Amino acid sequence: MTLDTAERCDVLVVGGGPAGVALGLLLGKEGVRTVIAEREADIYPLPRGAHIDDEIIRLLQGLGVADAVAATSRTSSRYDFLTAKGEVLMSFPSNTGRTRMGWPSGLMIHQPSMEAHLRGQLASAESVELRSQWTLIALAETPGGVLADFETPEGPRRLLAKWVVGCDGARSTIRSLGGFALDDLDFDEPWLVVDVLVDDASRLPGVNLQICDPARPTTCALMGEGRHRWEFMLRPGETAEQAQDPAFVADLLKPWKVEGAVRIERTAVYRFHALVARRWRQGRLLLAGDAAHQMPPFAGQGLCSGLRDAANLAWKLGRVVRGQSPDALLDTYQPEREPNVRAIIGMALMMGRTVCILDPQAAEERDRRMLADRAAGNVPAGPAGYPPITEGCILPGTPAAGWPFTQPVLDDGRRMDDALPHGAWLFRTPGPPPAGLPDDLIDLPLDSPRLAGFEPAVASLLAGEGVSAALVRPDRYVFGSGEAQDLVRAWAGALAAERT
Ligand SMILES: Cc1cc2nc3c(=O)[nH]c(=O)nc-3n(C[C@H](O)[C@H](O)[C@H](O)COP(=O)(O)OP(=O)(O)OC[C@H]3O[C@@H](n4cnc5c(N)ncnc54)[C@H](O)[C@@H]3O)c2cc1C
Repeated sequence: MTLDTAERCDVLVVGGGPAGVALGLLLGKEGVRTVIAEREADIYPLPRGAHIDDEIIRLLQGLGVADAVAATSRTSSRYDFLTAKGEVLMSFPSNTGRTRMGWPSGLMIHQPSMEAHLRGQLASAESVELRSQWTLIALAETPGGVLADFETPEGPRRLLAKWVVGCDGARSTIRSLGGFALDDLDFDEPWLVVDVLVDDASRLPGVNLQICDPARPTTCALMGEGRHRWEFMLRPGETAEQAQDPAFVADLLKPWKVEGAVRIERTAVYRFHALVARRWRQGRLLLAGDAAHQMPPFAGQGLCSGLRDAANLAWKLGRVVRGQSPDALLDTYQPEREPNVRAIIGMALMMGRTVCILDPQAAEERDRRMLADRAAGNVPAGPAGYPPITEGCILPGTPAAGWPFTQPVLDDGRRMDDALPHGAWLFRTPGPPPAGLPDDLIDLPLDSPRLAGFEPAVASLLAGEGVSAALVRPDRYVFGSGEAQDLVRAWAGALAAERT
């Protein structure tokens, strides 16, 4: 097959996990011709992620699946780190009502079900196609794009894509083929994961727990309806094979007194790592999700981070593919996302290093220190400490720039994002539109019928920041705020900028 005859698409997404499918759906909203190539025939069937945060539920809302995911989810009011004696070392409260994202601060879910809901949406994404059992084996950059070779059940296949995004997970083929180097943040601990089906929930803890017992560091976490999870750190010398022996697992569960209340669904041994790709873009190749970063699961943020990558990239790829922005816009992706990911990994490592202590003396010292810190009110910030975007496609120094824009919710449960079209939004006080307003910037004066019902909340958000306008990007992050005319000018400049 020659270059001329190769099948073409705008964006090739390699990997049909949550990051890849979410990216595909978001590219579909941008009208971008997208192929998602996935090695496996089906969704990875075993649970991995159990927690998603409010920003990610909002993102799923935009993809039309939040209600379905929430319907079988559960909430935990706290995430507690306890000593072996049950004293509280750290406690992160959750908002089980509504945060400013319009959802509870976290939902405990079943990842395969969430992925199934996402894949269900592909049927209505006209420009997006999922090709299952397509395994990427080779890539070659050409002046016209990237040639990608696949093994498929029908034999070899070739695609020519303008852009390729590796959403192909921890062992990313794109990362190897593209020669992307990884920064290793020095965490490597083996844990046994035990997922159970629940017959009697009344006998299980109702909140998420880390038991910082040096004899056996243990996680106990809620999942979606009808499921629960334990994770047990393996001690030196314990092998993955031993750890999955039913008698070994039964012994570990004994202190929880859940015999007869749960049935084991699966056991698996994972090594938890912390890794970040040094570059997230090389030419026409980009990385997202676990291909770009991996973190131990203590903060419940791996999947969430991958979906944030997808949201950040999709609208930028859309603009570049349509020729509305130079490809330099894609260079804002890593500086916008990496500091956030590194801060989250820092939180996950802090949590992991608190829990993963096997030496009794070191654990005693940790307990003494952390209990004293807690008594003195010196406690970690938790998720509230994750940083906003500080550089990239934003107008720094203006109020709320780089933070997700609040989503007001009406008394009848209607959420603002559902009322507004996909795209960038300009909220502003009523009056004539600013000069040079581009067609694809959705003009939302406070008296716009589109804002009916939401206008008091938006007006109060603007007033709270002391501004008359705010420009919100398609990924719901605030580009900047201030005067509408200044924002329109700055937005046009940022989107057209050739970076050096
Ligand atoms: C025990 C555990 C608990 C976790 N808990 C949480 C949590 O509570 N919250 C949270 O946010 N995250 C959590 N995570 C992390 C979360 O599961 C991952 O971050 C998430 O699944 C990564 O999604 P992804 O789409 O980037 O990669 P994957 O889900 O790994 O998808 C990658 C896809 O690429 C495909 N692929 C690979 N190579 C090729 C190729 N050459 N050609 C074609 N296709 C290919 C694979 O088949 C796969 O389907 C947890 C993980 C574990 C292991």
